[in-house]
Parts: sequence; structure tokens; C-alpha cells
Amino acid sequence: ERRVISTDVVIVGAGPCGLFQVFELGLLGLKAEIIDSIPRPGGQCSELYPDKPIYDIPAIPVCTGDELTQNLLKQIEPFGCGMNLGEEVTELAVQDDGSFVLATSKGKQFSAKAVVIAGGVGSFQPRALRAEGAEACAGVSLHYSVKDPQQYKDRDIAILGGGDSALDWVLALQGVARHITLIHRRDEYRAMPASVARLRELQTAGQVDVIENAKVTAIEEENGVMSSLTVQVKGGDAQTVAVQNALVFFGLAPKLGPIADWGLDINRKTINVDTEKFETSIPGVYAVGDINQYPGKKKLILCGFHEAALAAFAIKQRLEPDRKVHVQYTTTSPIMHERLGVE
Ligand code: FAD
Repeated sequence: ERRVISTDVVIVGAGPCGLFQVFELGLLGLKAEIIDSIPRPGGQCSELYPDKPIYDIPAIPVCTGDELTQNLLKQIEPFGCGMNLGEEVTELAVQDDGSFVLATSKGKQFSAKAVVIAGGVGSFQPRALRAEGAEACAGVSLHYSVKDPQQYKDRDIAILGGGDSALDWVLALQGVARHITLIHRRDEYRAMPASVARLRELQTAGQVDVIENAKVTAIEEENGVMSSLTVQVKGGDAQTVAVQNALVFFGLAPKLGPIADWGLDINRKTINVDTEKFETSIPGVYAVGDINQYPGKKKLILCGFHEAALAAFAIKQRLEPDRKVHVQYTTTSPIMHERLGVE
């Protein structure tokens, strides 16, 4: 039988707003489990701009996307929130008693008294290669991530892309694979200069083939087993590259994903909420951050933080309907000091 993880609140999405939601719930004495489809916390901050400076977080004149994430993780440490990373929330079902059951792509189940959707612009998925034969090969001979590098031992492989992931894997699999061909649609790379320099060395030494300004237009395959790629170079003839595997690193693109199927009142990519509780059309399900929509909504981190604070108060009130939830200051409240683990 599958184990069900029980908690007060499940938070879908570990971006900055989901992380701060843990804090606001923790101050009110509520336990949370947070789930994200990507293997790191931080959402857009860690996925899209880890090294870029943010200037509009109140009282922090400047911090990078990664620093903001690290500080949020530090701030929520006292609350012992369960971190469930690298798994997508696929199902949300309301139970007869008004509680919720959620299921993830890894087969985990959660039971919660309330749910906060902090899904941002959706869950990040690898951008797919669009070429004849690609779908048949996906998961068989064509992959969007590397699970076990030894899988490529003594094989001829193609790596597609021109960012850090593509170059990191060229460098890591060089010496494991029999031969690597890097195929990139441009001749400039969005990768660490040191990686580009190393790639050029390997290319000059004839250890890696590089085809630039090129795209894969077709894959020759049988039952998903790849034999070669057709590569079209800009302004040139098509060439055939014999390989048994292709690794594609075209970056990650957000998709609303399973959230669209949960019966919520949604627009194309956002969920409608009220501005008192940030509750969705399903009582007990709240939405904060980039994913919600209300008159005057601005997709800014500081707005998401405010939403998380009010959602936490609304959840506390929902779970304890007979008691008035008072505002207490972290500066002076003994109960908050206890929850924060400070003297
Ligand atoms: P996100 O950061 O998008 O995180 C949502 C998370 O939910 C993702 O990790 C996703 O994988 C996960 N998720 C979604 N669906 C599921 C599911 N079904 N199961 C599991 N996980 C799921 N804002 C500012 O205020 N100041 C700035 O200076 C600023 N600069 C920016 C610069 C750039 C280049 C970009 C792209 C954005 C910038 N923003 C800035 C916007 C800011 O990053 C967003 O407002 C913020 O990230 C929203 O946080 P969030 O927690 O709502 O969502």
C-alpha cells in the first residue's frame, strides 16, 4: 500500500512565492509540504536568472536570483517543511470532508487540509526537438536529460543545443561515448566561456565534431532505435550523421500543465482569485504569485509575498473557524519566537 504524507497545507511550486508561503504558514503554526517539478527550489529565480541582480525586494538593495532563493530557504528552515523536488503534482482531488488528496508524477500521495498553488508560469518542461522521427525515439534513443552517463559508453552520440547543459554534457561524456557530434543552430554559445574554450580545444584536436548554424530535420529510426540524423546546415546541403543516441538540450519552457485539469476557474494561463484570501473557485485551494489573477495583478515577487501572507491568515481561519486569528508581531510575540526557534 502506498504511504500517504499528511500535512496541514500542500504548496504546489517552490518558486520564491511558494517558499515564502511556507514561512507565513509556519508563523501561524501550520505545517507544509512543498512540491516542485524541477529538482531545485527557486522557480524562475534559479531556473531563468540565477546570476542576475534583483533590485526591488524590500530592504534588500540588490541580490541575485540564487541569493534570494538561498535566503528564503534559510528563512523557512525553522519550520521543517517537507521538500519534494523533481516531481510534478499531477492530481488534485477534493474529499467529502473538504480535505484534499494530491498525487505526483513519482507516485507519491499527499493529504492536506488546504492547498496553495504557487505554480508561477507553470511547470518547466524541456523544449522538445521538432523533427520527423523525434517522437518515436523519445525515451528510447533520444533523451532530454542524462540519467546514467554509462548508457552512452562506446556509442556514437549527438548532443543538440548551445547552452550550458549541452556543453557540460559534451565535456562530461567525452571519453565515455565513442564519438560526440555537437549540433547547434547558431555559431555563438550561451555557456560559460571556459566551457566554450574547452569545446574549441576538443574540436581542434579532432575529438569532438561540431556542426554550427544547423538543425536536425529528421531522424532515421526503427521502433525508436536511431541510426542517423539528417542535419540541415544554413545555406548548405543536408548531411547525414550516423549516431545511436541524441541528447537534446534546448532549455526549459513553462507549461501550465496538470493545473489546467483541476476544475479551477482559470484563464489561459492564470487562476482567478479574490484579493481578501487569494482563494480560487475551489474553497480551500488558494493561489499566490505569478499564477494568480485579480484586478490590478502585477507579476512581481513582492506582490506574491503579500499574497502569501494574506492566504496564510485565510487558511488559519478556515482550519480554526471558531477562533479569531490575530496579527502578532515577530518582534515581540512569544509564540512566534517559539515557532521560529529563537530566544
Ligand atoms: P515561479 O518562480 O514561476 O515558480 C513556480 C514553480 O512552480 C516552478 O518552479 C514550477 O516548476 C512549479 N510548478 C508549476 N506547476 C507545477 C506542478 N503541477 N507540480 C509541481 N511544480 C509545479 N520579479 C521581481 O519582482 N523583480 C525582478 O527584478 C524580476 N526580474 C525577473 C527577471 C527575469 C529574467 C524573469 C524571467 C522574471 C523576473 N521577475 C522579477 C519575475 C519573478 O521571477 C516572478 O514574479 C517570480 O518568480 C514568481 O514567483 P512564483 O513563486 O509565483 O513562481
